[in-house]
Amino acid sequence: MTGQQRRLAANRLAPAEVEHLSMRPLWLCRRCGQPWPCGAAKLALLAEYREVPVSLFLYLAGCLHDAIDDLHRLNPSVTGSAGDMFDRFLGWPARHTHAYRVSTTTAASIEEASS
Ligand SMILES: [Zn+2]
Repeated sequence: MTGQQRRLAANRLAPAEVEHLSMRPLWLCRRCGQPWPCGAAKLALLAEYREVPVSLFLYLAGCLHDAIDDLHRLNPSVTGSAGDMFDRFLGWPARHTHAYRVSTTTAASIEEASS
């Protein structure tokens, strides 16, 4: 193994310097190339917003809005369905947090629980 090869191998094992952030306007992960938010990004977001899950939804709602605009501008024919886009950005945290459960909790009981 040459020095060059060793450096390349070491780089592959080195801690990530590039985080799993969105690359606009494609809305793909800068690191792994998956549609953003990728699995690693979701884990990071859940950890980052653990104490303020409502803020996570507000952030992702803004991302959803921007992504629809960006993707539609790039190619109006492949934006996908509104339901798929909603689930990609806002459906997954609803399954992972206790603060936002449309199907099991009414707005009034959320209000009561948070006061
Ligand atoms: Zn990623």
